Amino acid sequence: MIFNKNFIFCSYTLLIFFLYPCSSFPQFIESDFKTCSKAAFYYGNPQLLPYPESDSTIIVSYYDLRLDIQSKPDLISGTAELYIRKKTFPENIFFLNLSSLLFIDSVKINEITVNYIHQNDKLTVLGWNNLIPDSVYKIKIIYGGLPVPTGFGSFVFGSHLSSPVIWSLSQPYGSQDWFPCKNSIYDKADSSQVSITCSENLTGVSNGILINTINNQNGTKKYIWKNSYPISVYLISVAVSDYYEYKNYYKYSQNDSLEIVHYVYPEMFAGLKGQLDKTPGMIDIFTEKFGEYPFIREKYGHAQANISGAMEHQTITTIGVFTDGVIAHELAHQWFGDKITCRDWHHIWLNEGFATYSEGIYIESMLGKQSYNEFVRMKMSDSKQAQGTLYVQNIDLISEIFNGYRSYSKGSIVLHMLRGVVGDSTFFKILRSYVNDTALSYGVASTEDFQRICETESEMELDYFFNQWIYGENFPKYIIEWSYEKGNETFYDIKVKIIQKANTNPSFFTMPVEIQVKTDICDTVVRIFNDSLIQNYNFSVKGKPESLKFDPDDKILKEKTGDDIYEKISYLLYQNYPNPFNPKTTIEYEIYKYDNVKLSIYDIRGREVTVLVNEKQRPGFYKIVFIPQDLSSGVYFYRLISGNFNDTKKLVYLK
Ligand SMILES: [Zn+2]
Repeated sequence: MIFNKNFIFCSYTLLIFFLYPCSSFPQFIESDFKTCSKAAFYYGNPQLLPYPESDSTIIVSYYDLRLDIQSKPDLISGTAELYIRKKTFPENIFFLNLSSLLFIDSVKINEITVNYIHQNDKLTVLGWNNLIPDSVYKIKIIYGGLPVPTGFGSFVFGSHLSSPVIWSLSQPYGSQDWFPCKNSIYDKADSSQVSITCSENLTGVSNGILINTINNQNGTKKYIWKNSYPISVYLISVAVSDYYEYKNYYKYSQNDSLEIVHYVYPEMFAGLKGQLDKTPGMIDIFTEKFGEYPFIREKYGHAQANISGAMEHQTITTIGVFTDGVIAHELAHQWFGDKITCRDWHHIWLNEGFATYSEGIYIESMLGKQSYNEFVRMKMSDSKQAQGTLYVQNIDLISEIFNGYRSYSKGSIVLHMLRGVVGDSTFFKILRSYVNDTALSYGVASTEDFQRICETESEMELDYFFNQWIYGENFPKYIIEWSYEKGNETFYDIKVKIIQKANTNPSFFTMPVEIQVKTDICDTVVRIFNDSLIQNYNFSVKGKPESLKFDPDDKILKEKTGDDIYEKISYLLYQNYPNPFNPKTTIEYEIYKYDNVKLSIYDIRGREVTVLVNEKQRPGFYKIVFIPQDLSSGVYFYRLISGNFNDTKKLVYLK
């Protein structure tokens, strides 16, 4: 899901704003993201929307929703048929989640009417003594009413021009606002079917394939949609309006194409067509990177609604903003979110971080590395505002689950950093293995599942990486100190000291880091492993160093100071030679800036006895031969002062 702008279309609900970064493409792709207000809203009070308890003793394997959806007066009514399997005792009672604001006409198990209690958003089915564990039962609930939206607008009656538009957006907990369900992300139904009866001038859209359209000859039509893939309850959706239907195709083999169906407001089609036409190309890019489109036997599509972003309903994204970023983000969710769903909302970064990062993958494929780097730079800037751990601690607050700085931006940057750690080809191998893993595919995954895939594919131990970036907070702040000395032949010996400012959790960050040294001969990139609060490294490079850059390609979310400060090490005062000496010795030094330079000799009482240099000099290497005049033998000092640089060394004159 993605929300970008403050797009108020609903006046009867309590709107609460929270900070939310826009998923933004560089403005050379989409200029309208520039106007992003960094706000989204949700319906109702999030404090009153806790994670709902669901019945762990049952599994719902199938949903068949047959809904009449009317506007003016706004109402839904119909039948929900669920196939449930009782896993454990007690055998005579179970419950489903259903808003208490809806009414129930009857509840049947295998066509036999049963008693129930409907209160506190729970539909408890009672008085049935014959439930046999592991047998499948058909629960039929006839119900209806006016759904009251929660969250991001779980079920909304709106309009465009003078036509109605009605849509659902259940993520994270809103399914129960419009149909009886087991309101849990963890269990997926094996399949689902949604039939929408609506005014005959409207089109009802849902997941999967449209298997039938029936004209009821009474001013209404019925649209029957069948989804044959496993589906998490929050991904079941409806959208109804006087849609204009526009199709294009993604050809995935010599003879087969995936249908892409866009349901958009007729008055907006002409303006949107160019954007819609980008979808097949995006599927092509993501197929190459992640593997085959997950719902290849069905479709992909967009259903327009009055929302300020979009939501990745399985095979049919509900969408209000048609930018490249939003279209790519929701499409990527079909792999990351829909095919593999985060096991619970604590691990939402597995949905949102991946979809956000996929925007970057799309940019990289279309516009190249420089544009990708710009995307990363923006996401890093947002990530630095993330508070707390990427693992969402409080899933009772949807503002915490869908925190843009954290779950989206930092989630995407963690993937960028992982790519830096394991390398490009292994990284994409990881993504493909993850979405195609037999234990996870079309199911759910946790951070630990993803880590396991990363470790298997990379053959690296990555505990440190996931512990600090998913379960830790903040990001490293490095201070770099460095210097060099002339080594053998054309080599120079570099000393680098990496100091981290202490963090809370972890106390410091462990990361492989690249250091780039430019010399007068070549560029050298050294990869070191930084795993202490303070750490020293020595290495040699060919040629005289001109600059040093810590993490030159920004593979790490960080702050840094001190690298590339040539000035600091480029004023060098070397030890004189020979020493002790008679009758003469050579003093060498180098300076960086055009500035006044003073080189003097002092006796042991600190009195200046000779001034060797006192003039403005250009940057460079200097050699001064010192031949003492009228000095007695003994210990002396030579001092070089230029700008802020001030260094003293000892010399011994023997007569
Ligand atoms: Zn998303």
